[in-house]
Amino acid sequence: MSIPFIDLQAQRKALGPLLDEAIKRVLERGDFIQGREVHDFEEALSLFTGAANAITCGNGTDALTLVGMAEGLAKGDAVFVPAFTFVATAEAFSVLGATPYLVDVDPRTFNMSVDSLKQAIADSILANLTPRMVVAVDLFGQPAEYNAIKKVSEENGLTVVADAAQAFGASLFGKKVGTLADYTTLSFFPAKPLGCYGDGGAILTDIDSKAQLIRSLTQHGKGSEKYDNVNIGLNSRLDTIQAAILLEKLKIFDSELRSRNLIANRYNSGLDGIVETPFLSNGAVSNWAQYTLKLERRDEIQSRLKLAGVPTAVYYPKSLNQQMGYLPCPVVSTGVPVSEKLGGQVLSLPMHAYLPVQTQQKIVELLIDAVCQ
Ligand SMILES: *Cc1c(COP(=O)(O)O)cnc(C)c1O
Repeated sequence: MSIPFIDLQAQRKALGPLLDEAIKRVLERGDFIQGREVHDFEEALSLFTGAANAITCGNGTDALTLVGMAEGLAKGDAVFVPAFTFVATAEAFSVLGATPYLVDVDPRTFNMSVDSLKQAIADSILANLTPRMVVAVDLFGQPAEYNAIKKVSEENGLTVVADAAQAFGASLFGKKVGTLADYTTLSFFPAKPLGCYGDGGAILTDIDSKAQLIRSLTQHGKGSEKYDNVNIGLNSRLDTIQAAILLEKLKIFDSELRSRNLIANRYNSGLDGIVETPFLSNGAVSNWAQYTLKLERRDEIQSRLKLAGVPTAVYYPKSLNQQMGYLPCPVVSTGVPVSEKLGGQVLSLPMHAYLPVQTQQKIVELLIDAVCQ
């Protein structure tokens, strides 16, 4: 038995010839950079999320860096990021010379702990840094606790950024991802819930002036004309072919989202009472980018599943404070014990909109066997 962790071929089949036709249209027109579909996709992103502005860019990491540039982050500025996340959340601000300040996460949601954030803000001031920005990550597709994070941020004059690379389509108290923070960043890396066939990213914001600035920054700090450069920017653009692919995938995204939620519920009922199933905070609807469990004998269980033909993944084996490149980053004075512990416990199961019921039943049975051995 061979089970894919994410089945992009099944999705391609579901999309049918429309996808190939969309690519072919771009090939025939030849507007590969900033072509028609790029603008159409940006409009579609605004419409889908309710965000006033959507600016596409090269990838989800650049999306974060572009936000940092738009806010003028520099040396001496503290950016609060969870210690348990993909490295890009911190990397994007390190390259600007700002200081990622590592904050612990909640053991149930895996998202930023608000108490730890409050402590980190106080610590950063004592360390002579300027608290500027909090970057909450919607890990595995569940929105962070934006209501509480916004309150703390308002009290301290911080900008709130949602690193929603994993959370497109999720919502909190009925508000969609894209409208929950001052800026929201997205990634269209192939394995993300809305993925293209290469790299891609976007920034969503309701701040019109910053949207205009970010658009300029994605194109070498462009002014009103092509060879008019009014800012120091990047070359970070979404290809027209990728935009064409994303437009097709967006058409079936709502139905995929329903399917992912159905599959997550099936995992929940199959595993209830055997393991601790994923916890959603009050008001949160996940897109289930990952279905992630916490297991005491994780490595042993993962090996058993592998032997039985079930692929699983560990996101992430180390917290950022344990990564060599990030050892110099300051850590909140109360430490990040939850982040450190999760690295040894988390295990993500196969999850995609096309997971057949029988395959899922098999995965559940094999996991129960592995856990009970
Ligand atoms: C994937 C991801 C990113 C980076 O996205 P890329 O498009 O690969 O640059 C950033 N943050 C998180 C939480 C991610 O999962």
